[in-house]
Amino acid sequence: MSRTGIGYDVHRLQEGRRLVLGGVEIPHERGLEGHSDADVLCHAIIDALLGAAGSGDIGEHFPDSDDTWRGAYSLELLGLVCARLSVAGWRIGNVDSTVIIERPKLGPHRQAILTSLAEEMAVAADRVNVKFTTGEGMGFVGRAEGVAALAVATLDPAPTGASGE
Ligand code: MG
Repeated sequence: MSRTGIGYDVHRLQEGRRLVLGGVEIPHERGLEGHSDADVLCHAIIDALLGAAGSGDIGEHFPDSDDTWRGAYSLELLGLVCARLSVAGWRIGNVDSTVIIERPKLGPHRQAILTSLAEEMAVAADRVNVKFTTGEGMGFVGRAEGVAALAVATLDPAPTGASGE
């Protein structure tokens, strides 16, 4: 039986930090603040995948009280989660996501982000989708105080006899 999960994350924009989305560094005067690289898109996708698997959330798997994950490259955490799901007998059906960000415009980076995510998740690029929207000047996104991301993922049981590794 296929299963679906959702993910949501938000991080604050701050000077002196890198802006990393989907594992891709985006040139911008501010970046996202957090324990790891604060890749809000990877974090939302990780939570969607864990949700679909019924495996808790990113905070349980990678606690911010654990220095192992300080400054972590979140794309690698996504790869780690995908490997764990594969071992547990799941295959990724598809992942859809939305980044809610006032600026910069991310359209020029869409292909790089898609390629980065698909490669790390070891799925065909057409199983991954990334959308971008703004806060229309409203709320914390609209004031460029932070960036939010939403994701939905579906998982399918691996075919019998084809266990993951
Ligand atoms: Mg986060």
